[in-house]
Amino acid sequence: MSKKITIAIDGNSGCGKSSTAKAVAAALGYTFMDTGAMYRAVTLYFLRNRIDINDLRDIQNALDKIQLRFAYNPQSSSSDIYLNEENVSEEIRKMNVANRVSMVSAISEVRRFLVARQQQMGKAKAIVAEGRDIGTVVFPDAELKVFMTAELAVRAQRRRQELQSRGEFVDTQDVMQNLRKRDAQDSGRKDSPLKKADDALTLDTTHLDFDAQVAQVLQWARAKIEEPLTE
Ligand code: C5P
Repeated sequence: MSKKITIAIDGNSGCGKSSTAKAVAAALGYTFMDTGAMYRAVTLYFLRNRIDINDLRDIQNALDKIQLRFAYNPQSSSSDIYLNEENVSEEIRKMNVANRVSMVSAISEVRRFLVARQQQMGKAKAIVAEGRDIGTVVFPDAELKVFMTAELAVRAQRRRQELQSRGEFVDTQDVMQNLRKRDAQDSGRKDSPLKKADDALTLDTTHLDFDAQVAQVLQWARAKIEEPLTE
């Protein structure tokens, strides 16, 4: 039987982490974990319930009421996220959530709450987890760590197309501004900032198409899976 590993994919907003991680997980028969979707779902709850992000008690009370789970959707061949048993997969992708999520994800209580769930979900290994702090905080012992990046203009163009395919028409400049702001907030926050783990491999997708980026991660993953066990 082949060895099961943990694959951590981190990087900037909008550089294709989710779609790459999803394809890599499918090719290996691994579980895909989109941690950004978890931060987005918590943000949606906070927005809907007008949680005061400066009030720790309000935040803690809200977190106590939040249940998250992923479920595979055969129609879209991907996993949907449920917030208190409501499928919010579509709603969390909208710009109102994108514009708030980095503020919510900077709150230490929110991070503690979600990191605990992510570590629980990843216990069995055979997982491809994608986010900002996966290789540094959530799974620091992951066998393969990839740090993805791409030029801002290329990321904005790709994200605009993705939103358009979902029926949300936005200006490329607005998307670029959102990505730039989130990068700055995610990299500048005190708790678990976005940064490349020392042992992560860099994947710049500016000039790579989707198939090429998936092939590269799969090649790295298979090399790790075939490495003999050291203990
Ligand atoms: O990956 P995605 O763009 O959906 O992530 C949305 C936001 O969630 C990020 O901009 C970041 O603020 C937050 N996030 C995080 N840590 C993670 C994953 C996402 O702080 N592991």
